[in-house]
Amino acid sequence: MRGQMMDTPLLIAPLIETAAKFHGDVEIVSRTCEGPIHRYTYADAYSRVQQLTNALASRFGIGMGDRVGTLAWNGYRHFEAYFAVSGSGAVLHTINPRLFLEQIEYIINHAEDRVILVDLTFVPILEKLAGKMPTVEAVVILTDRANMPETTLVNAICYEELIADQPASFEFPRFDENTASSLCYTSGTTGNPKGVLYSHRSNVLHSYGICMADSLAVSATDAVLPVVPMFHVNAWGLPYACPMVGAKLVFPGPRLDGPGLAELIEMERPTILAGVPTVWLALLNHLDEIGVKMEGVRIAVVGGSAAPEAMIRKFQEKHGTFLLHAWGMTETSPVGTTCTFKAKHLGLSQEAKYKLQTKIGKAVYGIDMRITDSDGNNLPHDGVAFGHLKVRGPWVLKTYFRREDETILDDDGWFDTGDIATIDADGYAQIVDRSKDVIKSGGEWISSIDLENAAVGHPDVKEAAVIGVAHDKWQERPLLLVIPREGATLDKQGMLDYLETQVVKWWLPDDVIFVDELPHTATGKLLKMKLREAYGDWLTK
Ligand code: ADP
Repeated sequence: MRGQMMDTPLLIAPLIETAAKFHGDVEIVSRTCEGPIHRYTYADAYSRVQQLTNALASRFGIGMGDRVGTLAWNGYRHFEAYFAVSGSGAVLHTINPRLFLEQIEYIINHAEDRVILVDLTFVPILEKLAGKMPTVEAVVILTDRANMPETTLVNAICYEELIADQPASFEFPRFDENTASSLCYTSGTTGNPKGVLYSHRSNVLHSYGICMADSLAVSATDAVLPVVPMFHVNAWGLPYACPMVGAKLVFPGPRLDGPGLAELIEMERPTILAGVPTVWLALLNHLDEIGVKMEGVRIAVVGGSAAPEAMIRKFQEKHGTFLLHAWGMTETSPVGTTCTFKAKHLGLSQEAKYKLQTKIGKAVYGIDMRITDSDGNNLPHDGVAFGHLKVRGPWVLKTYFRREDETILDDDGWFDTGDIATIDADGYAQIVDRSKDVIKSGGEWISSIDLENAAVGHPDVKEAAVIGVAHDKWQERPLLLVIPREGATLDKQGMLDYLETQVVKWWLPDDVIFVDELPHTATGKLLKMKLREAYGDWLTK
């Protein structure tokens, strides 16, 4: 017997339609590439979304399934593209400008983008790729006539001119909710980037997921500042979730530095921030320097890499902000787990709460997770046993875009995240390491992440990386690379003495190297492969 409820498809266009209808006066504030702050409302945004949809259809014939690329910061025009492109049934391909040029060329061609919308900052990237993007018919520069740059691009169009004369009405079609809506490529440390093709359904369900109180808890009383870029897994879904509930949006544009963020926070008073640890380090350092306390920031969401305890503490103690640890991947839309408390944790001491917050937390409903050994056998959820973290759910990918012949799920339909984790009896997971980064020393495993977190707890350490390097006796041993803070007088012995108070003795790195910089991926993660190439024989040469 079938249920008798309405068969309303879960689509993206209704998110902005509803925001305009019920939260029409709520603001979207953007720092722009041109400089000034721009502000308008959901009602204004919806009008322009419809103009853009009409323009894309009438000028370029963009419709169902066509790919439209974006190379843009977090800002209102990019936001308009999110809804205009997906709303009409086309696919929004958010291109990460931090990828290497060859990778950008690869993904534009792999996706077969027909039109690319580009911010002023990134025009030079496309200029360099001129003649190498055969499917791209037009480039639309996200600015007005007065700010149009001189460009060698032959087919550049001004965004404001493109939409100016278009009608602000468009009947967004209702189609199957499993239709593709957006495409994001993983930065990948080896091989070509792989595309994850989201659907309308997966994005809408993910939005419900992150709005839940035990998740990111986005509500109509919030103002949300996504520092995480809209070209990095859709800014963790916030451009969809905020219109869903009518939360104010604050977009930082190109200014992701400490002073830029501090100024925007002071001005717009966001209640929720979202970003990776390196961004928060820069913000916290700046706030320390100028001696300013953030007011009214309820939650700072952190993910993408592990949040060190020192950071959790600082947010709480200096700014009264709960650092909400989240875990996810491009392949999981991205939010999979969030570390919020259960009732039984409320009475814990502050110290015990901080400890709990270093975990990545519980699966958001919709996501199921388990850990297995290398043979695929389930491991117990006792907080001790660790193994391959596997997930499944309606916003986890089944297959990579145009690699459909490759099987990526295991026999039971689970996706192996490539992370090694524990899960405790309350369902809280903790990442031990990436499976390729875990250090295998004499048959035992050492977590490079734990060592890094311990090292950055030292006040003289700005950033730290730990890799496993070849060792004659133990097979692999940890090597610590440290960027010291300016003016610090830290030496190797001082570092090791400090670590000895933090980790078991046999985990202590065999050597400490002080460096000026560390390599990162396009999404800001340590590029350990590069470090292994450079230092892999450090202990054996
Ligand atoms: P890419 O950088 O290739 O785009 P993702 O952004 O999808 O990749 O990164 C996903 C990976 O980031 C996860 O598999 C995990 O290793 C790491 N990660 C994400 N969140 C956390 C976290 N809170 N703690 C530790 N590692 C994390």
